[in-house]
Amino acid sequence: MPVTLHTLSGLTVWDGESDRGTATVSWSGDRITSVEPAASAGEAASAPSEYSVIPGLIDTHVHLDSSAGAKPGDWMTWPLITPDSERSIHVVAHARRAAAAGVTTLRDLSGSDVQLSAARALDAGLIPGPRVLVHGAVGMTAGHGDLFVPPHYPHRAPVADSPDECRKLVRQWARSGADGIKIFTSGGVLSIGDKVGWRNQTPQEIAATVDEAHALGMLVAAHTHTAEGVDIALEFEVDSIEHGTGIQERHWETLLERNLPVAPTLLINDAIADRRIPVSDDAAEKGRAVVTERDENFVGAAAAGVRFVLGTDANGIFVRFGDQLEELRLMARAFGWSAERALRAGTSDAADAIRLTGRVGRLQPGHGADFVVVRGKPWQDIDTLTAENIVAVVARGELVSGALPA
Ligand SMILES: [Zn+2]
Repeated sequence: MPVTLHTLSGLTVWDGESDRGTATVSWSGDRITSVEPAASAGEAASAPSEYSVIPGLIDTHVHLDSSAGAKPGDWMTWPLITPDSERSIHVVAHARRAAAAGVTTLRDLSGSDVQLSAARALDAGLIPGPRVLVHGAVGMTAGHGDLFVPPHYPHRAPVADSPDECRKLVRQWARSGADGIKIFTSGGVLSIGDKVGWRNQTPQEIAATVDEAHALGMLVAAHTHTAEGVDIALEFEVDSIEHGTGIQERHWETLLERNLPVAPTLLINDAIADRRIPVSDDAAEKGRAVVTERDENFVGAAAAGVRFVLGTDANGIFVRFGDQLEELRLMARAFGWSAERALRAGTSDAADAIRLTGRVGRLQPGHGADFVVVRGKPWQDIDTLTAENIVAVVARGELVSGALPA
């Protein structure tokens, strides 16, 4: 079968790290073959375009398994009463919505066979869409992960309540084809009946999970909302901090030394605390406490240079697939970042954070063909990074939204 070479020329290229000026991007299938500067100053100047090209965005923390229908209903009940086969289709719909908004790589942090099946269908090219990485959760009975299901409901996600059970569950995820593991080192906001301050698992259980995951080549993402939870995550050498609202000054040195990524999930915690979305009184109360603590902690952490990367907790209901653009604008504001620093947190640095260096996150030969044509230069002005300014999105070499400029 002949392989078609596609090109896009005359646009300004921001390659994930810096402005490359007017250039021509070529790709063939899911592979960027070249990024060549305009041949002459004349060529660069003759066709000044209002459009630019940036790498597809990467969200390191999402949850795709919720209803993608117009009336999602009760988000907690829906996964319990909907068969896996049907949920996989909703997962793909959410993933495609993200891609249409410019998010071409998603890491799902509460995976099951539902997301793994959808990810394989996307990998096989059955349906054009983004790349989906899937982490399986290893948590305790009555832990944050366990309490998304009402207490007496009999059909529950697996839990692990001893170091041996933790090892076994990690191995089962590895057998299922999961890309990584999610753990919890504190309680959560939306989980039913727990407290944010609850310890989740013993040090021995966490140690066994991280050791086994690393032995099997999997990254470990740690959900935490408390300072003690960050202590545990750092002690046992996880690979990323999720939420991290409890980060204190005592954590900065280790975070910087290890260049450990933190997904700040700003938008969802704000939305819960402000009750912009329908949540229980208990969840709103927990959300307010978490956000108050977070705002103080994050200003100091960002100034110290802590490595925040795009991670939204989008589930299609509280944070929609496409709200990643708003999250990046919020991150720039909250952390006092330049537009370029914010955009790196959603492209090249997000790729590096989840071990996708050399594959996505940059417009470079040999990388996957994921990119977004935008109106304006969002690395100079992050406020231009809006849905209205997205002209076209190419994911895995295929146009998934809009139309490429002629
Ligand atoms: Zn999450």
